[in-house]
Amino acid sequence: AHFLARIERHQPQLNAFITVTAERALADAEAADEKLARGEGGPLTGVPLAQKDIFCTDGIRTSCGSRMLDNFPAPYDATVVRCLADAGTVLLGKLNMDEFAMGSSNETSYYGPVCNPWDLERVPGGSSGGSAAAVAAGLAPAATGTDTGGSIRQPAAFCGITGLKPTYGRVSRWGMIAFASSLDQGGPMARSAEDCALLLQAMAGFDERDSTSVDAPVPDYAAALDLDLKGLKIGLPTQFFRDLDAEMARVLEAAVAEYRKLGVEFRDIELPNIGLSVPAYYVIAPSECSSNLARYDGVRYGYRCDDPKDLEDLYLRTRAEGFGAEVKRRILIGTYALSAGYYDAYYLKAQKIRRLIADDFKRAFEEVDLILGPTTPTPAFRLGEKTGDPLSMYLSDIYTIAVNLAGLPGMSLPAGFIDGLPVGMQLIGDYFDEARLLGAAHRYQ
Ligand code: GLN
Repeated sequence: AHFLARIERHQPQLNAFITVTAERALADAEAADEKLARGEGGPLTGVPLAQKDIFCTDGIRTSCGSRMLDNFPAPYDATVVRCLADAGTVLLGKLNMDEFAMGSSNETSYYGPVCNPWDLERVPGGSSGGSAAAVAAGLAPAATGTDTGGSIRQPAAFCGITGLKPTYGRVSRWGMIAFASSLDQGGPMARSAEDCALLLQAMAGFDERDSTSVDAPVPDYAAALDLDLKGLKIGLPTQFFRDLDAEMARVLEAAVAEYRKLGVEFRDIELPNIGLSVPAYYVIAPSECSSNLARYDGVRYGYRCDDPKDLEDLYLRTRAEGFGAEVKRRILIGTYALSAGYYDAYYLKAQKIRRLIADDFKRAFEEVDLILGPTTPTPAFRLGEKTGDPLSMYLSDIYTIAVNLAGLPGMSLPAGFIDGLPVGMQLIGDYFDEARLLGAAHRYQ
């Protein structure tokens, strides 16, 4: 009831939710109370949370921020939704996001932009902007997000919360609407690393319904929080600090000094190919998106145009009316990059660069346990500031994208403030080393 009241009060300014499931939330909360009264349940029993509207929820609208799915109640729960419900959490509703998770500011949503609770004239980041704003403003204690190129970490940084993008394959993608399937990964967004650990515990694990899900044991993340930092080696990539904004550098230097006091050893490392990650990503992600979004044809589900003349008219107008401008731009770029004659020049080349970037990280993790850098180049920018300039929008993910290309886990945690706005520091771990990431973040917090 507390969170539903806060949602009612602040939703008009923030626009963080697309759907609020108030009745169901109260009923589920009551059931959870009874369970707890019987002495049953676990650490998440009765904890309210909200789901990014990219996760399918049985019988509840699952829009993915698009007109295309505005009328789509999913016929089943995503594995992540099911796991969190099984752990006893209570669903408050579905959160606003960039259309099909394509964006860095939540301004591509069919439902309108989300505002940053720290300054309503600024963006909350994207694409999980509704998730970050809802947690930062106390409309939900925790939320889910997804991260294809930074969409958990960048909004977490802009809104002053903690977000974790797990290793690719750690969390099931079943029922998570696909954008770029080789990069997409769901994860927790919350106020602390400790809360993220509890959520990840419920979300992580093998799922036979996702062929890229990895069958590896899930460690006890809460038990790993009290990590001994003495002798922990953290790498500082020279490429991340070379052209870094002076204020951002000052914030990160303070964080490094704090970690040093706790016994961490720092060393400079090189990630020579990291400068190629944004161009490689903007070939690979649109290519995969152009293929994944072919399913929205007006025939099986979702939006359908009025009075189609014939099948071609149905396809053309459904897609022209159902998708927004950024999604269309990506479909066109991807279709171009995958077409005969261009495939080798663009797609194949981008895949080779992707391997080089992954190899850079592999070499780095032979020397260090974790990597530290900025999450974003600047604090949250103003609404409308970058909407006319897609390239400058794409560059706001310059520090996060390489992690997705390599499939590594990464998290953003609050590091300080610039001009009264929160900024994040990013920690990157080796494959399946989420426990150490969470521990290092927890000890800092
Ligand atoms: N901002 C990036 C993009 O627009 C990443 C989005 C994401 O991680 N979903 O593709």
